[in-house]
Amino acid sequence: MGRVAVIGGGASGMMAAITAARLGEEVTVYEKNDRVGKKILATGNGKCNFSNRDFGEQHYYGNREKLKGFFSRFSVEDTMDFFMKAGMLVKDKGGYLYPWPEQASAVLDILRIEMRRSGVGTELCAQVEEVGAAGGEERGFLVKCSDGKKEKYDTVILACGGCAAPKTGSDGSGFALAGKLGHHIVPVVPALVQLRCQDSFLKITAGVRCWARIGLYEEKKGNMGRLLQEEEGELQFTDYGISGIPVFQLSRQAAYLLEEGKRAAASIDLLPQMDGKEFEEMCMRRMENASGRTLEEFLVGLANKKINQMMIKEAGHKPGDEAGRLGEKKLGELLRSYKELRVHIYAANSFENAQVTAGGVDLDEVTQELESRKIPGIFFAGEMLDVDGRCGGYNLQWAWTSGYVAGLGAARHCRQRGMEPGKRNRGQRE
Ligand SMILES: Cc1cc2nc3c(=O)[nH]c(=O)nc-3n(C[C@H](O)[C@H](O)[C@H](O)COP(=O)(O)OP(=O)(O)OC[C@H]3O[C@@H](n4cnc5c(N)ncnc54)[C@H](O)[C@@H]3O)c2cc1C
Repeated sequence: MGRVAVIGGGASGMMAAITAARLGEEVTVYEKNDRVGKKILATGNGKCNFSNRDFGEQHYYGNREKLKGFFSRFSVEDTMDFFMKAGMLVKDKGGYLYPWPEQASAVLDILRIEMRRSGVGTELCAQVEEVGAAGGEERGFLVKCSDGKKEKYDTVILACGGCAAPKTGSDGSGFALAGKLGHHIVPVVPALVQLRCQDSFLKITAGVRCWARIGLYEEKKGNMGRLLQEEEGELQFTDYGISGIPVFQLSRQAAYLLEEGKRAAASIDLLPQMDGKEFEEMCMRRMENASGRTLEEFLVGLANKKINQMMIKEAGHKPGDEAGRLGEKKLGELLRSYKELRVHIYAANSFENAQVTAGGVDLDEVTQELESRKIPGIFFAGEMLDVDGRCGGYNLQWAWTSGYVAGLGAARHCRQRGMEPGKRNRGQRE
């Protein structure tokens, strides 16, 4: 029996631990919190969107060719199979997968039960500070904790998460561990996060939620450059910027633009249901009915009242101005601003608010088994790696997939070193 240490008791670490333990290895999970899986409880607004039936590597950022290989070994069906065999029923909401009771605690409980059943040990309140070669004649690795405790293992799986939601435990310390082992860390930025904008009109629209299409651009000398990404969904205006799923989906790319010192802007189409022709026809009909109405009345029914008020102000008019007197050109301009409302993004919200971390341990430095190319016997899983997915269950699916692959790899490593599953090796903890 080989000894496997898993650093981090999050989604990926628990899956890695269960996988290696089911193959007969002696596994210990080190978790700095006083319990495992704290972040899982916060996922999907407490309901845990643990995967998605609409699956493929196109939903991820990172080396997609390599990701394809990982997903061919453990994908959505395997995740469903794992949880269903362990007793959890699954709810499919338009492809988005949740535990049937819609309680994230069900997912965590299943993982905890399976860890116990497969004999995984846990060291809680155990912050790992260093992972290094055992040294001397000895093979394997020493895991050192902040309280001075040291243990020797045959293989170590680093599953410390990234920097997102540090209150749940993932504070970036895993990157320091990987860095000390000689790994390159692709620069990290917060992803699936709100964007902060400098536009003063946001004070008027704060709190409004509406369906919209949002395009992200790199702004150059005040002009919108090339369209980089476009998303549609429920947009939320806040007093400091924009939020909601479509903004989350764009946020990674915006954060990297800003990190590189570039300028980011978004163009918001508040009437995405109308194509150009339909929109122009709607404008013509509306302008024919403009006389005898104030501007406020002219815009009723087009968008949320706060948006209408903001549009009137931004165009330099007053709500009581008579629409008919403005003339076709000005009315046309006012209406067209609903199709291309611009916001100027100056920052992504911090890791405290982010759901995931973009960047991390360079995928080029790990094998198809997620083993370090620099130090064989060290494996990686989860958000620590330079892989992040779109909102919709993809990040947890990556945690399950990478946890499984790393757990399998760690067990293979133990076997190759001649440690027979089920039998203890000399000189190890009894
Ligand atoms: C609010 C929120 C909602 C989300 N909702 C969803 C969703 O619905 N669907 C989805 O797919 N994804 C969602 N995500 C993302 C998803 O939760 C993560 O991508 C996933 O949990 C990452 O798993 P992980 O095991 O890599 O890292 P983590 O879950 O972050 O686990 C890492 C663990 O390692 C421990 N640790 C760190 N450093 C050390 C150390 N040095 N020593 C010991 N222990 C250490 C930490 O305490 C932590 O418990 C959400 C994230 C957040 C924050």
